[in-house]
Amino acid sequence: MHEWSLAEAVIEALTQVMEQEGARRASEVEIIYGEMMELELDILKFALEELSKGTPLEGSKFTFNEERASFRCNSCGHRWDFRQVHELLPEDLWVSEPDGGRESPIHFIPDLAQALMVCPNCGSRDFEVESGKGLRINKVILEV
Ligand SMILES: [Zn+2]
Repeated sequence: MHEWSLAEAVIEALTQVMEQEGARRASEVEIIYGEMMELELDILKFALEELSKGTPLEGSKFTFNEERASFRCNSCGHRWDFRQVHELLPEDLWVSEPDGGRESPIHFIPDLAQALMVCPNCGSRDFEVESGKGLRINKVILEV
């Protein structure tokens, strides 16, 4: 449930910008969030709505865009994406479901991806997350 604390941070950052700019309203706010965050968008939207009540952000339109995760190996320079990560995990870490299906553990604990992953090309653990982490406000349309 990190959605509520994220929403709080977003509202706080936006309120500051609006004060600095002397804005009355923010008609539109565009948020970019990383694929690795595995956000529940519905919860985030709801939290933003609730937390903006009674603030200048009440009634602002929030839009969301997902940023795909990608990784780059520091040893060999190979790049890969989050889709492949699921296939690269050791077999015994997968979670069995009652209906016989399997669920990647990353679905439950995104941080696992970084802890368990190795470069699919050379096997190195020395890699960087190029994109797909975190959340940022990409665009705000202010009304002064
Ligand atoms: Zn590599």
